[in-house]
Amino acid sequence: MKYLLLLVLLALVFFVLGLKRSRPREPESRKPPPVAQPQTMLRCAECGMHLPVGEALPGKGGVFCSTAHRNSHEARLGG
Ligand SMILES: [Zn+2]
Repeated sequence: MKYLLLLVLLALVFFVLGLKRSRPREPESRKPPPVAQPQTMLRCAECGMHLPVGEALPGKGGVFCSTAHRNSHEARLGG
């Protein structure tokens, strides 16, 4: 009967070891969360508002946030 107890103990040990092994490793150095790509910010030459390069409207004397600002800026330039 002693062997049965030993067997149970061994089974328990292997069971615990198996659990530990199957558990995913603790991430020692967690990857930083994906950050949004830093977008180039441009400044509207008329009002100074910062806007992503994809939304900037190129014009005379710089980029603009809207066609209205581009028009007024270009008008001021005397173009
Ligand atoms: Zn503007």
